[in-house]
Amino acid sequence: MIRHHLDDATVLSYAAGTLTPGASVVVTAHLEMCPECRRRVAHAEAVGGSMLTEAPEVSLSPGAVNDLLEMLDVSTRKTSPVQKLSHVKDNVLPRCVSGIINKPLEKIQWRRLGYGVSLFRIETGDNDPGKLFLMKIESGRKMPEHGHGGNEMTLVLSGSYHDKLGTFGRGDMADLDGETEHQPVVADGEDCICLVAIDSPTHFKDFIPRLMQPITGI
Ligand code: ZN
Ligand code: ZN
Repeated sequence: MIRHHLDDATVLSYAAGTLTPGASVVVTAHLEMCPECRRRVAHAEAVGGSMLTEAPEVSLSPGAVNDLLEMLDVSTRKTSPVQKLSHVKDNVLPRCVSGIINKPLEKIQWRRLGYGVSLFRIETGDNDPGKLFLMKIESGRKMPEHGHGGNEMTLVLSGSYHDKLGTFGRGDMADLDGETEHQPVVADGEDCICLVAIDSPTHFKDFIPRLMQPITGI
C-alpha cells in the first residue's frame, strides 16, 4: 500500500507542465502505481484547463494529462496477474523509465560509489536543468545524515527504508526540499532501488560528496 504521495505543489506543477523533465519522469512513474494521485492530477488538469480558456496565450494541451492517464489505465488493465508473476523483476522499473533506458534492471551498469551505494544516470536531454538517476543502496545500510542541495524527488521502486519522515516502500514518494535533513536506513533482506530527480546540476554535484563525506572521511 502506498503511504507517501505527491505533494500538492508537485501535482499542480505536473498538471501545468512546469516540472523539469527528470522530475516529470518520477511523477509519471508514481502515477503508474497510484490511482489516488492519478485522480488528483486529473482534477488539477481540469481546473488548469478551465483557467486556460480565460488565458488563451498559454500553450498547454488541455487534454494531454487525461490522455496520459487513460493510456496508463489501459496498459495496467492489459497486464494479466499471470504476466505479473512471471516477470517480477522486470516490473521493478516503471514503464516510463524502461521506455527511456531501454534495458531490463539486470542489464544496468551501476556506478559504484562504495559503501553500499550505486548510481545509474538516466539521460533526460540537454534542456533538463536537473538530473535523473536510479540509486541502489544495499540492504541493511544506514546512510549518513544529510541534506540536499535543492529539491529532491525520490520514488522507491524496490526494497524499503525508513527515516524520521516514516517508512518508504515500493510506490512511496519522498518529495524533499533543500531544508530537510534525514538519515535513511535500508531494511534488511532486499536492496533499496529508488528513482531520484534533483533540480539542478550544481546541487547534484554537491549531493554525492556531501552524502558520502561522513563515511569516507574526505
Ligand atoms: Zn500517490
Ligand atoms: Zn536524502
